[in-house]
Amino acid sequence: MAEQVYDVVIIGGGQASVPLAGSLAQAGRQVAVVERKHLGGSCVNFGCTPTKAVVASAKVAHQARRAAEYGLRIGAVDVDFAAVLERARRIVQNSRAGLDRRFEGSDNPRLVRGHARLAGRDGDLFRVEAGNEVLKSRQVVLNTGTRSSIPPLDGLDQVDYLDSENWLERPELPGHVVMIGGGYIALEMGQIYRRLGSNVTILERGERIASHEDEDVAAAIQNVLESEAISFAFNTDVQRVRKDDSGTTVSVDHAGSTRDIHASHLFVATGRQPNTDDLGLETVGVETTDHGIVGVDERLATSVAGIWCAGDIRGGPMFTHTSWDDYRVLASQIIGDGSRTTKRIIPYAIFTDPEVGRVGMTEREARQAHADVKVARVEMRDSSKAIERGETEGFIKVIVDAATDRLLGATVLAAEGSELVHMYIDLMNADAPYSVMRDAIHIHPTMAEHLQTAVTRLG
Ligand SMILES: Cc1cc2nc3c(=O)[nH]c(=O)nc-3n(C[C@H](O)[C@H](O)[C@H](O)COP(=O)(O)OP(=O)(O)OC[C@H]3O[C@@H](n4cnc5c(N)ncnc54)[C@H](O)[C@@H]3O)c2cc1C
Repeated sequence: MAEQVYDVVIIGGGQASVPLAGSLAQAGRQVAVVERKHLGGSCVNFGCTPTKAVVASAKVAHQARRAAEYGLRIGAVDVDFAAVLERARRIVQNSRAGLDRRFEGSDNPRLVRGHARLAGRDGDLFRVEAGNEVLKSRQVVLNTGTRSSIPPLDGLDQVDYLDSENWLERPELPGHVVMIGGGYIALEMGQIYRRLGSNVTILERGERIASHEDEDVAAAIQNVLESEAISFAFNTDVQRVRKDDSGTTVSVDHAGSTRDIHASHLFVATGRQPNTDDLGLETVGVETTDHGIVGVDERLATSVAGIWCAGDIRGGPMFTHTSWDDYRVLASQIIGDGSRTTKRIIPYAIFTDPEVGRVGMTEREARQAHADVKVARVEMRDSSKAIERGETEGFIKVIVDAATDRLLGATVLAAEGSELVHMYIDLMNADAPYSVMRDAIHIHPTMAEHLQTAVTRLG
């Protein structure tokens, strides 16, 4: 086996690894990235990139059906699902090719193709086996991401189901897709399928969707999706699934009685699990939790000095932008002054339409954590721009610490909510009182001015 020594080996080509590899190499470190499939990981290849491309197609179809509301006659909408997926695949391929090009002809950082596994130590160097090579390294960064978590459901191994990784490869539009799970992937994918012409049923084990959000937010998303004829079943346990003549029969238990639902397609959206079980962590003593999450401190250091961790496998919020920011934390720790840590404000979005843009605490969390909070809520139906655009669903909720006038959290459930919420994100990062936004001049008519209206209502 060929053996080569590096300063840093990064296992997994996820969101942190490519920019981190570039920064470390620029600072003079010898760096290798090992990727077993495609650079860009979940986000580029089957997650954020293609889902948002298909969300865009689904929105065009939806708006086209509403054309008469805008005074237009355009006839029936005819969806070419294979072409919708092909558009998304092209965007994925361009993005992936851009990442590949960064390594073309490069010895540092070097890209090694293959599955990587830690294999103990050689003196003060870690051994990493990758394909038919052994890479020895002073430091190792783990950035291996997650895969679909598939429940041990009776009959599932006999059924050709969809999940968040294979959906892009299935060119046929489902007649009726039953989704197991009511998290954000199911909500986004459910609305996509519905708008492109499928019937959609979402089965949720709990009492409501979007359990991390405030109840009013979850209820509003549910209302929107129900208004588009997506069906929900709550407190529902899937007992078994069986292949039948035209798809799958899903047997569910609800309040003690069992009923069968027929699906042309089954979509399993029951969460993600970390890719840490085949990483050789035990050979060097890296500690994980029961669920395979790697334990880290706020510097992203694991329990073993010299081994660092980035992205979804370090627990906490699982988003592309958090994994990407982990690169900045690690660059600060490995080649910088160590001042950047994971003490940070983390925003996120649910890309339904309307979108949910979120930052900071929910109202429930804020009321638990702070003695005195001020909450303001404004409806999108009162925004001039939303009325003009014909997109009046949703609301804005902003929560402030009454003692300091600092924002504790905000939700923007609106068309473009994922964009609009950045005004609140920046206000929180600036640690500025809400009066800064209240007293600014915003452009009329914009959706953004309604974010100002919300803080104005705080008093
Ligand atoms: C359907 C879907 C939609 C999503 N939409 C969004 C969104 O809109 N916005 C958002 O912020 N997040 C979204 N996410 C989440 C986002 O994709 C992840 O949070 C993000 O990709 C995590 O990045 P990561 O760096 O941890 O790892 P990943 O991006 O998963 O990359 C890990 C890489 O490591 C490789 N690997 C694993 N093990 C090994 C090994 N032993 N050896 C070599 N290589 C290995 C894998 O092949 C993979 O390429 C979505 C996820 C899904 C599934």
